[in-house]
Amino acid sequence: MKISEIFSSIQGESSLAGLPFTFVRLAGCNLRCRYCDTSYAWEGGVDLSLETVLEEVRKRGIPRVCVTGGEPLLQEETPLLVDRLLDEGYLVTLETNGSLPISPIRGECRRVVDVKTPGSGEGDSFLMENLKDLTERDEVKFVITGREDYEFAREFVETHLSRFRGEILYSPAHGIVEPRLLAQWLVEEKARGRLNLQIHKYIFPEESRGV
Ligand code: SF4
Repeated sequence: MKISEIFSSIQGESSLAGLPFTFVRLAGCNLRCRYCDTSYAWEGGVDLSLETVLEEVRKRGIPRVCVTGGEPLLQEETPLLVDRLLDEGYLVTLETNGSLPISPIRGECRRVVDVKTPGSGEGDSFLMENLKDLTERDEVKFVITGREDYEFAREFVETHLSRFRGEILYSPAHGIVEPRLLAQWLVEEKARGRLNLQIHKYIFPEESRGV
């Protein structure tokens, strides 16, 4: 597998924010979002066998693992990595940009699926067939860069996620939208879904990797 980094930190996002996790960041991404904060993972990475990755995770001794990227679904072995982690009893989450099928990833894994907004520059990338594979364990995330994105997200939720029972995450693009502004919109409109702050960016403001 092409691995960008393996590290342990506080989960910064999703309904599990604040919990200690080990992160396996896979290298490579098929999108180029304007606000990307992990562009170092777009290319390169170190070749590690699946067994080596599992051993690195075990060594850290944390019972929760986040498989992320880049875009982890680009790599053929990712479903197998998730299977092995689940079989070993880890709580496993997978963060994906939503442009590739999530169906190869077992439903016991909590899949955090982005729907890219127009402000990302990758607004048409969401794979609509993923909607039918979402379960209540999954989370759908919108990164909001401004009012236009918020309205896009609101309409997407109303139109396509009326039956979805999992979490909906509205994440202010860090340094682009004030969290308090997005919070205000969510309250004013009694939105379904929660404000999703990337808390690691407040806890570790100087660090761009390994947090
Ligand atoms: S999908 Fe994620 S890793 Fe890829 S460019 Fe967008 S933000 Fe960066």
